[in-house]
Amino acid sequence: GTEIRLASRPTGWPMLDNFSIADVEVPRPGPGQLLVRNVEISVDPYMRGRMSAAKSYVAPFEVGKVMEGGAVGEVLESTVDEFKPGDHVLHGLGWRTHAVVDAKRASKVDPDAAPLSTYLGVLGMTGLTAYAGLFEVAGFRAGDTVFVSGAAGAVGSVVGQLAKLKGAKRVIGSAGSGEKVRYLTEELGFDAAFNYKDGPVADQLKAAAPDGIDVYFDNVGGEHLEAAIASANLHARFAICGMISIYNATEPPAGPRNLMQVVGKRLTIRGFLVGDHYDLQNQFVTEVAPLVKSGKLRYSETVVDGIRQAPQAFLDLLRGANTGKMLVRV
Ligand code: NDP
Repeated sequence: GTEIRLASRPTGWPMLDNFSIADVEVPRPGPGQLLVRNVEISVDPYMRGRMSAAKSYVAPFEVGKVMEGGAVGEVLESTVDEFKPGDHVLHGLGWRTHAVVDAKRASKVDPDAAPLSTYLGVLGMTGLTAYAGLFEVAGFRAGDTVFVSGAAGAVGSVVGQLAKLKGAKRVIGSAGSGEKVRYLTEELGFDAAFNYKDGPVADQLKAAAPDGIDVYFDNVGGEHLEAAIASANLHARFAICGMISIYNATEPPAGPRNLMQVVGKRLTIRGFLVGDHYDLQNQFVTEVAPLVKSGKLRYSETVVDGIRQAPQAFLDLLRGANTGKMLVRV
């Protein structure tokens, strides 16, 4: 088998030499364990945080050890009754071709019900993040005007479409290329979208949302957050999901300069972690899987072939090479 390890901790933007690729013997499952051949592995922005030693909500990766991450795969061997060879499972030991997984930490998925990859994306962690963030954290209501940044990504693309399907008055997205902007308005049904690289975010958002915004779903932070505060209506709600614009910063960035507006506008700004919302998983799949199946909710995946390409796929993700979910096919 092959695995991808953290070779050294990056300062600023990570580079290929922060990773190493190792050929290893395929491990054996012990009692209560499964041997899984990974089929697809997830490539996610939060992994950048785990490459640093700084304390955060997930433990840092260890130098010299495998980079872990979400994966779906096929059971090759099982020592428990609940799983049989040929079953497919979702688990957290990606970034390697073969994983020995505690049966308790694997969940069965059905590749006939939905493509295997969707359990990592639109029907998986990133889809649930969108669902929980929009409905539970931001308290979305029909008639709201919603702004989402990182809108062409895995989380953002689901946020915007769910808002539209649930009766948003207007949905606005921002993304990093003209092609992504067209994708949002022409394929995903966003009412407006802009390329944040084209000019100040505050000006572009004001033009796209002349009547202001009621919900902001933040994937980006920085200038986007300041712009959203400026465009916020009275009692607007912000779900703070992530701040990818600062993940490679070497100094803490300045906060939004207009934070005082939070007072007068009575804004609610709430951070959240998807890990706290797995109680919604069944409700989420029950509601969203049919929308995906019928094509009412569309999704894209950017799939890179070969486990050895995982580091490059990760670096590309941080620079916006993906539309929708970034995945590596092992
Ligand atoms: P995406 O699929 O959105 O991929 C990341 C995207 O970020 C890139 O495609 C790129 O698109 C955009 N990006 C990169 N740099 C910048 C920048 N400087 N400014 C604006 N956009 C940038 O990833 P996910 O959907 O998986 O994650 C989206 C966000 O949600 C991240 O912040 C992530 O950390 C967070 N997250 C939080 C979770 C939680 O529990 N709170 C769970 C899952 C994700 P572009 O071309 O548009 O620049």
